[in-house]
Amino acid sequence: MTDINNKIREIAARLLKDKQVDLFMAWEKGELDYQVKPYFARTPEEADRMVFNDYCIQNLSNGLLKFRDGQEKIGIVVKGCDSRGIVRLLEDNQITRERLYIVGVCCPGMKDPLKAALNDSGFKKQSKDVPLADKCLKCRQPNPVIYDEILGQERVPDVAGERFSLVRDLENKTPDERYAFFEDILSRCIRCYACRQVCVACNCRTCIFDDT
Ligand code: SF4
Ligand code: SF4
Repeated sequence: MTDINNKIREIAARLLKDKQVDLFMAWEKGELDYQVKPYFARTPEEADRMVFNDYCIQNLSNGLLKFRDGQEKIGIVVKGCDSRGIVRLLEDNQITRERLYIVGVCCPGMKDPLKAALNDSGFKKQSKDVPLADKCLKCRQPNPVIYDEILGQERVPDVAGERFSLVRDLENKTPDERYAFFEDILSRCIRCYACRQVCVACNCRTCIFDDT
């Protein structure tokens, strides 16, 4: 990871210095090791704050929506999942490919920051080793699907097992059971809209839920 981290910083500094991009999106360390967050560098010097470590789980692609109405050229680091988010934005005409310089990283899987926080809280001590996030355990696309340059060894996707067993369980329910299932799930929703904010497919300018 250190090697990839250094390469990301080098590439970002080079692109910003040569004015090939106006800003470069990656991650920076938060207060605690597992609190990594998105970071936008605008000068070569700022590239030194970038990190790539076990907790770079946030998908950066929907950060591009902040720039959809501008002209800036944007550098961005992507794992497999971020790269698929970019494909979605391109398909939805939210940004053009010419405005992007994409640095792909073959992803080793990311740890779950919520489990790390729980571990750290004293409420529920788990093993010292924080596990991979659930979404990474069965990742079918750890390698970027779109990029201008790529870092790291290509990973073998995990294609074993039944991927849609939960969907099949749902399909096997009667309509009433299915209704009860969703009613139970949605009964816990407090309408904070965090799910909308992180979803790359939620890119409508006016959201239907803002008016309801
Ligand atoms: S393992 Fe897959 S889902 Fe997990 S962060 Fe990497 S690319 Fe994304
Ligand atoms: S993240 Fe989405 S589903 Fe969860 S409480 Fe917030 S609005 Fe509801």
